[in-house]
Amino acid sequence: MPAFNKILIANRGEIALRIHRACQEMGIRTVAVHSTADATAMHVRLADESVCIGPPSARESYLNAAAILSAAAITGAEAIHPGYGFLSENARFAEMVEAHGLAFIGPTAEHIRIMGDKIAAKDAMRRLGVPLVPGSPGALASIEEAREIADQIKYPVLIKAAAGGGGRGMKVAHTADELEDAWRIARTEAKAAFGDDAVYMEKYLDRPRHIELQVLADTHGNVVHFGERDCSLQRRHQKLVEEAGSPVITAAVRDALGKTVTDALKQLGYRGAGTLEFLYQDEQFAFIEMNTRLQVEHPVTEMVCGVDLVREQIRVAAGEPLGYGQEDVRFNGHAIECRITAEDPATFAPSPGRVTAYHAPGGLGVRMDSALYAGYSVPPHYDSLVAKLIVHGATRAEAIARCRRALTELVVDGIRTTIPLHQIIMDDPEFQEGEYTIHWLERFVSRHMPEG
Ligand code: ADP
Repeated sequence: MPAFNKILIANRGEIALRIHRACQEMGIRTVAVHSTADATAMHVRLADESVCIGPPSARESYLNAAAILSAAAITGAEAIHPGYGFLSENARFAEMVEAHGLAFIGPTAEHIRIMGDKIAAKDAMRRLGVPLVPGSPGALASIEEAREIADQIKYPVLIKAAAGGGGRGMKVAHTADELEDAWRIARTEAKAAFGDDAVYMEKYLDRPRHIELQVLADTHGNVVHFGERDCSLQRRHQKLVEEAGSPVITAAVRDALGKTVTDALKQLGYRGAGTLEFLYQDEQFAFIEMNTRLQVEHPVTEMVCGVDLVREQIRVAAGEPLGYGQEDVRFNGHAIECRITAEDPATFAPSPGRVTAYHAPGGLGVRMDSALYAGYSVPPHYDSLVAKLIVHGATRAEAIARCRRALTELVVDGIRTTIPLHQIIMDDPEFQEGEYTIHWLERFVSRHMPEG
């Protein structure tokens, strides 16, 4: 008996396909939902059934909870997988799904709510014994309080939106002179992007790596982790290349972090997949946030651990026990993911439009997660991610060599993409040495990809 008979996939693009693939292999039928702009999209073409839920604007389609729930009711879906983005971290949506007698493939609404508020998340993690970045104990009530805390923790400091995401609502103040502007701009951005101007302060770390830990919990009290991902290669606080494992994390360090995190999530009674994000500098981990959903970069973990994380999410949502423990999780080789977006590789200006030719690379250890096909028009309405190239090798050097080879085979014509940038990153000696922090890529792009 499959975990569910039918799942509605409340998303689009490569992640909708990713979920569809796991369902197919589990004998579960799929329902795609789509906007009018996505009528010919690959996720619609491959799903067993599809329902149009609204016009192109995401607010009226992929974020339209009522239309999605109606689609589930008409098609008799038993569960909803939200993917990432859109409604995946919307606690109210998770509640609505369950109130309609459907399973939400994700954590409880309560945990989504706590982790969605970064101040509440840090507070919860502090109480659970997870190390944090030094900063304000909660939201900053005034510029005077901001000044006091900055004096205590010392400049540079970062003002961050409590409701933040996607790197927005974040401003650095290097000195006391810059604090008032940072405070004002962060609050304005936070209000505009998230409708909430609550901000908090953190010490701004000057050379950390972004290291995150993938976890999975069932409803029977079992929690395991699948090791770390290094997502330090970022532009405007957005990830571009991810690796599993990190070039700087040893098995002993991974085990210790894994124990802290899994103990914390056991105490919390967490369910489903999740990721704890840390900054790592001077051999210290400092928690910054938790994502209560599948992440874009989950495939690198899948390649190294030999696990299908979407299948595991679905099994857990159906109430099945994991059936294995931490000692059964093995780490094999190294994996790298390149996020390929429909953007100019130098300016990162969006480049939607018609894909005139598409050829995906192949061969040993190469995986393409993409909804592209020749003749497809990338719509201008949504996120610009169009493909993820994931490679796996016995060692990091082998994975890099494989990635360079795969990138030369990959063809996406008709639109501009970040493929040329990935090529020069993979060719770079510093990258190959694994010597980078979260600031490395910004400098690399300005050096190698002069605008215009
Ligand atoms: P978002 O939810 O907007 O993605 P995060 O809190 O996850 O925000 O931070 C995104 C990125 O911003 C991090 O991966 C890191 O590169 C940078 N960052 C966040 N907090 C700090 C900090 N205290 N010091 C230095 N860089 C930071």
